[in-house]
Amino acid sequence: MTSKNIVWHDHKVTKQDRSSIKKQKPVILWFTGLSGSGKSTIANAVETKLYKMGKHTYLLDGDNIRHGLNKDLGFSEEDRIENIRRIGEVAKLFVDSGLIVLTAFISPFQKDRDQVRNLVNDEEFIEVYVDTPLEVCEQRDPKGLYKKARAGEIPDFTGISSPYEPPKNPEIHIKNDEVAVEECVEKVIEYLKEHKYI
Ligand code: ADP
Repeated sequence: MTSKNIVWHDHKVTKQDRSSIKKQKPVILWFTGLSGSGKSTIANAVETKLYKMGKHTYLLDGDNIRHGLNKDLGFSEEDRIENIRRIGEVAKLFVDSGLIVLTAFISPFQKDRDQVRNLVNDEEFIEVYVDTPLEVCEQRDPKGLYKKARAGEIPDFTGISSPYEPPKNPEIHIKNDEVAVEECVEKVIEYLKEHKYI
């Protein structure tokens, strides 16, 4: 519950000031997709490309956040919702700091993704759907998680025992099956250029 004694402080240096010094328009690139779809791989490669272009970025990645900020959260529906809510709030602060924020979380529920979208201005949220067939993700299975989930060792595993709701209207739709990572990166960079974020 927010205390009535807490007020929002306006800063003298504005979001506009912070982003113009960086020569970019701050935004959240929200990667969503099944485990193993390629979110981290593509987000990392996009961040590398942006860095080489002299852009200021920060990548928020599933496992890393669960090691720190969200280490008290599990994978129940309630905890997943809270996980995404906190990440959204952090991403919002980073947008306020003028950064291009990349996030790589399964974020299976449209409602939760929309909640983050609603935290920021219209143009500050880009939903990137990394669309890879479940069979392909399961074949890749880099962390052996699908194998465990199929053996019933992981409850609530997205795609197996928990639903994934594909984005209805993602700004960027990447089909990441038999496509080179560079091609996916190019698609995101083109979008950012076309819409004058960079
Ligand atoms: P996620 O973050 O969605 O769980 P990862 O980025 O960890 O997925 O990728 C899962 C696996 O798929 C990794 O082993 C990665 O190397 C591989 N991968 C990702 N994108 C491609 C691609 N375009 N072609 C081939 N393999 C890929």
